[in-house]
Amino acid sequence: MEVPAKVIAGCTDFYPSLENGHVPDRIVDVSKVDEMVGITKSTPGWRIGGSTTWTEIIDHPFPPAFDGLKAAAREVGSIQIQNSGTIAGNICNASPAADGIPPLLTLEAMVEVQSANSTRLVNVEDFVLGPRKVDLGANELVTAIWVPETRNNTTSSFLKLGSRKYLVISIAMVAVTLSISPQGLIEFLNIAVGSCSPVARRMPVLEKKLTGLRARDILDDIPVEVEDLTGLTPITDIRGTSEYRQSAVRELCQSTIRDAIGKSLEIT
Ligand SMILES: Cc1cc2nc3c(=O)[nH]c(=O)nc-3n(C[C@H](O)[C@H](O)[C@H](O)COP(=O)(O)OP(=O)(O)OC[C@H]3O[C@@H](n4cnc5c(N)ncnc54)[C@H](O)[C@@H]3O)c2cc1C
Repeated sequence: MEVPAKVIAGCTDFYPSLENGHVPDRIVDVSKVDEMVGITKSTPGWRIGGSTTWTEIIDHPFPPAFDGLKAAAREVGSIQIQNSGTIAGNICNASPAADGIPPLLTLEAMVEVQSANSTRLVNVEDFVLGPRKVDLGANELVTAIWVPETRNNTTSSFLKLGSRKYLVISIAMVAVTLSISPQGLIEFLNIAVGSCSPVARRMPVLEKKLTGLRARDILDDIPVEVEDLTGLTPITDIRGTSEYRQSAVRELCQSTIRDAIGKSLEIT
């Protein structure tokens, strides 16, 4: 049976993952496919071509709802990696520490998957199935990421905890997308945590607990308990212990929510 061709884009995950440096015989470079590059806005929302690089995302004049995604883009490796690495490559590589996934979860993004004769849209949380495992057939490509239209007053934040400031794989990371009503209440709140479970996850218990609260009242002490962070299974590895991750992620949630509230209060 013919081995399917390997799809490549920026190759920043592809080359480091090669066994013994052996390049597969058949590869398809999608980094310059017109329909897969660039960012457009239409009625259902934003379409980010799968081969769009992190640098292009950083440079695009998105509304404040995308600040978290931009912050994550600035954290992907180094400038050189951001110039080559793509959004689809990050999702398809499906690392538990992929910086792009938590902000996309909070933006309720969808993955556009195409084969020669069909197109389907899958929520990011259903697309990423486990470490290095995504819902993608051998005859399919990720052609774009769709982000639904956000409310005008939506802001977002992303914070990554690493053992140093630059070029680092995260110990934990948190993304928050929120909006505050004219009355000062948190009316919309999505929170996602990465690097603390096999796949980055939304935090529905915490989202529900904080939605409806007066934003200014909780700024000094955001009420986040470990029990609110359901579904996390932090492991001990070279970057940190399970216990450290567990306690750090609680504080990281507080800081990220505080940051997003601060930005939102500035524009409401
Ligand atoms: C030094 C270094 C530092 C890094 N630091 C970080 C970091 O801090 N945070 C982080 O999240 N990542 C980091 N990475 C990983 C990597 O840069 C990102 O995940 C990047 O976004 C991958 O994109 P790419 O285009 O290079 O993917 P590629 O390497 O080209 O491909 C990665 C995988 O995705 C598949 N793929 C690519 N495009 C498509 C498509 N359109 N459809 C279907 N499958 C596709 C490929 O087959 C492959 O399996 C780092 C990498 C390096 C080398």
